This record gives sequence, structure tokens and C-alpha cells, in this order.
Amino acid sequence: MQAPHLHRFERDGRCYVIDTHTCFCFECDRISWDVLEYYPREPVNRIYHLLRDRHPRKELEEVVGELEWLRVTKAILAPLDDESFFKKAARAGGLKKLTLAAASLREALSWLNRGGLLLLARSREEKDITLSLRPETLIAADWGQAAVALAEISAAARLAGKNFRVELDIPFSPFPETIIKNSGCTFRCRLLVSAAPFPESLKGGLTALNGKKPVGAFKTLLENGAVETIRVAVQPASETFHTVVEALHKAGYGDIVFDLPGAWMAHPRHDPEAVVDSLEANILYYVDQLLHNAPFRVEPFALLFKAIHDGAPMYRADPSGIETLVADGEGALYPSLPFLGTPRFILGNLMEGVLDETRCEPFLLSGTLQTPECLRCWARGLCGGGHAAIHYARSGDIHHPDAAWCDAQRRWTGAVVEAFNRIASAGINFDHLVASMGPCTRRFSLLGAAKALFKGQLGLRPLLEGDATVLVQWENWNRSAYFLCNETGALTATRYDREMDALHPPPYRQEWMLTRMNGTPCGLLKLQPVPGKQMARAWLYLHDEELYAKPALQHTLQALLAELCREGQIRHILTPVTANETKLAAALTTAGFVHAGTERESLYLQGVYQDVDIYTYSAED
Ligand code: SF4
Repeated sequence: MQAPHLHRFERDGRCYVIDTHTCFCFECDRISWDVLEYYPREPVNRIYHLLRDRHPRKELEEVVGELEWLRVTKAILAPLDDESFFKKAARAGGLKKLTLAAASLREALSWLNRGGLLLLARSREEKDITLSLRPETLIAADWGQAAVALAEISAAARLAGKNFRVELDIPFSPFPETIIKNSGCTFRCRLLVSAAPFPESLKGGLTALNGKKPVGAFKTLLENGAVETIRVAVQPASETFHTVVEALHKAGYGDIVFDLPGAWMAHPRHDPEAVVDSLEANILYYVDQLLHNAPFRVEPFALLFKAIHDGAPMYRADPSGIETLVADGEGALYPSLPFLGTPRFILGNLMEGVLDETRCEPFLLSGTLQTPECLRCWARGLCGGGHAAIHYARSGDIHHPDAAWCDAQRRWTGAVVEAFNRIASAGINFDHLVASMGPCTRRFSLLGAAKALFKGQLGLRPLLEGDATVLVQWENWNRSAYFLCNETGALTATRYDREMDALHPPPYRQEWMLTRMNGTPCGLLKLQPVPGKQMARAWLYLHDEELYAKPALQHTLQALLAELCREGQIRHILTPVTANETKLAAALTTAGFVHAGTERESLYLQGVYQDVDIYTYSAED
């Protein structure tokens, strides 16, 4: 039996629903909770009949209407496409990451070339590949020699059309000592080294990392461009690690990742419920910080938020043996780090040039589709079938998840959904959170640029759920191009549409609220790139037309466009203007737009075909 399409659960007296296929989730009130007991199994009229003594008919109709809207937009109950579901679940890509675990960098060097060849040869169609060096002790002086060998592999990878990255995974002691003592965890540090030519400056930074001021060393390495990211990897050594994220964050670390499979492999008898208590305490702190506008990254929390936000469930969370391999100091190959040192999982030997495909196959059969327990489990889209190392540690079988662990995992998934809803309802823009999750090559933030440019004159912020009322007032019967000349071209927005826009903006579109300095909404700005064309469409709307004439707005708009073209790699921006918007046209012209042409009779409004003028801004001008 498969998991129900819509799963309801309660946490601390609040009700939540998650679509087990899309991971779309929301907090619901009692009436929606009651309706969802029957919806979509029962016909609508029967639902009204069954709930007639508990809720007024009109309210029931409203709830059913909202659920139907979500269904039509495919946020929930999207028809199952068996073929694509199977493809996702059974997808076996090439090798993405090879880790060389050795006593020292010098020892890893003796395997480096062969490791690089293995990674390149087995990466198949994977574009992004990583070679990770994981020495038990680090002598920074060895980096120079390693950099030379890595440059050779990097050149070969470039010729093969790959994006090759080097990771250093080194022992690490976060300072102050109290973090180490009180946290009940062990730590490592993972540096993603900037692309070849691998920087010499890394040597000094590596020495400083294990000195008295590692946070300062982190900063220097990032600022001088020697590394793209540095993460602190935390492996809980006990069940109670409630405050480790808080301690690290307060000490100045902004990129943290939990190594949970490694922890379970090392401590299989830990109580899963106690571990989830600790994880919940950490996610609570993380969410509080996000709500206080202090974005930093903690994994796997941020990736789970992203999966819910993108509606992209993970059907196979564990890459062991397929996308990852680990070689030890003797060249023995293991599926992933948690298995390192467990002889029954040796898949081959780097030195002997052997990799036994039949020993890799069992790892291909992991994930939610191949695991009967997972097919029945509502948490599968966010759990992804767990991790083979955890199943092995708890049940002795990489394909058989332990029931007690799964119960706790489902409670943990509920905590993640609750945390997501807290952030989403506060209007945190996930696009920005997600953007901060990539390697820290300089990223363009339109919001950041615009905020700086509009400073002192206008405010700019992402849409909030609470903006729905004003947006609907502005939008209904408005003849501005902002509302008419879009992909739908229809004035059908409801409060509910607008709440959904704010909570789940389509990833391809960015829309912001312009505010006066006292925070009152005064306009809208929207940007939508045209894929593959170095071009974007932009819309501007100011509710009070007089604002278009403000020189401050025109100048900041001009600077914003220039910045957008420069950093966003866009060459042309197209903006539609309807016949009545003469003040918008004048503002655009002052900002550097030119009238590119007229789309004759392209707008049908109140029984009449109307022209729409197109203004363009070009980077070359
Ligand atoms: S591993 Fe357990 S919790 Fe995870 S999807 Fe499978 S059954 Fe559910």
C-alpha cells in the first residue's frame, strides 16, 4: 500500500498537511483539517454532508474551493507520472565525488593521479565533479606539491568538459575550547578550494586554521579568494547536542553541516528520539536566526527547506557507491565515508585497478522506490529513504530501515515542515536563502543592489503574504502593463492568488514591493529572464503616478539597470507600456530606455484591441 497523497499531522496543537508527492505543505486550521480527513477521497457533497454538524456550509465550500485551486495549480494532488517518478527514483548518475582518505596529504599524493583518473572515467555525464582529500593530520607545507598534481588533473578535467573542484576535508578544532567540550561532537573542516591554478596563499591559511583564531583564518581564506566555501562538519558523538549550532554560530561560523550517517555508524545504539530532540533544538535556533534576518547555512536543514520550497522531493538521499566513492590509505574503495574501514563493504582497489560492479549494485537498489517501507511512508520525499550506512548500523541490512529510527525520522520531518512554515509565513524569501547556499563566488543580488541604490528614497523588499490585500486592490481593473502584459494577461488575481505568489514565487520570476521610507507600499518591480537570450522582461508600476517624475527614482532606476546588465549578464531589458502610461514612458526614457516599437492591437481590453509600446534598455547604450 502506498502512502496517502495528502498526509495530515499535528505538532504542538497545530495542524499541518503535506503532499507526499510534491512536498508542498501548509499549516491548516481546524475546518481544513476536518475537510482533509475526507478530501479528495469523498465526493464534495458527501464531505459537506459528513461535516454539516461541525462547520457552516459556506465555510466548507470556501475550504474546498481553496483545495481545488491548489489542485488545479498542481501544488497538491498532481497526477502521478509513473515514468518520471520511476526515472527520478532509479536514476543512477556517474561518480560525482571521490574522497581520498589518508594519514596525511603526502600519503594521499601517491594515489592522486589514479584517483583523478577514476573520477574522470566514472563521472559519465556528470558535469560537476569533486576530488576530496581527507588527511587525518595536516601538514600545510605538503599543499604545494598537492597543488601541482591537482593542476594536472584539473587540466584533464577541463579537456573532458567537466567542472572540477577540489575539497580539503581536514581535522579541525573550533575555538573557543568550550564548543568542543560542551557540544558532545567532533569537528572537521571542509574547504572548497578555488579553481586552478590552485592558490599558494592556501598554505598560510591552512596553518592559521588550527591556530588560536580559526574564525579569522576562515575570513581571510574567503576574502583572499583562496577558497570558495568553508564549512564546519559536525559529527555528534552523543545523543545530546542541543546547542552546537548556536555555539558555532555565536563563535562566528556561518556554514555548518551535520554528518549524521557518520554519527549513526559510529554510535548505532543511540536513541533516535533523543537525537531528534537535539536536531529539533538546533533547527529552532536556526529558524530564529533566519527570522531575525541573520542568514547562515546549516545542512541538512537548508536543503530540506529548499526541497519543500522548490516542490522537488528527494527520492534517493544516499549517493553511496554510485555518486560517491572513498579510497583509504591502502587504496581500498568504499561506497562512502561512513563505510570506511568496514571490510565487507570494500568494492575494489584503486591500486589494483579493480572495482567490482556486482558489489556496487546493492547500492543502486537503495532509495524510496526500491524500499517497501519507504513506499508506505509519508516522509519519503524529504527523507529520501535514509542512508544505507544508518540502516546497516541499526538493522544490519543496508536495505532495511530500522522501525524505531523511521518513527523518529518522521517526527523530525514534521519538525522540518513546521520550521519551514514558520519561515514561509514570515515572508523570508527563499530565493535569497538558496542563493546564499552556493559556493561563494561573487553572486549578484538584485535585491541587495537595489536596496543600496534606492537607499534614502524608496525601500525595496520581497512580497509578503500580508501584501495580498493591497495587491488585489491595486490589480483589480487596473489597466497598467504591469498587470495586463504578463504571461496570463488576465485580471483574475484574488487575495488567495496573491498570498500564494508571495509564499511560493515561481523560481524564474522576481517580484518586489517598492515602499516609501515609512514602509507604506507604493509600487512594484518585477523581473523575468528570457532563458538563453541574455535578455529579461521587466515591469514597473507606481501606484501614485506622480512618483514616476521624481528624479531620484529615475536616477536610481538607471543605476539599477546598469548594475543588472553588468552582473546579471543580461544585455537587453524589455518593458511594455500601455497607451495610458505616459508618465511611465517618460520615466523609462529618462532612465535610458528607448522606444523599440509597437505591438499593434496586441491587448484586448473591454471589447477593444489596443497597442502596446515596447521600451528597451541595452547594455551597449
Ligand atoms: S527510511 Fe524510514 S522514514 Fe525514511 S522514507 Fe523510508 S520508511 Fe520513511
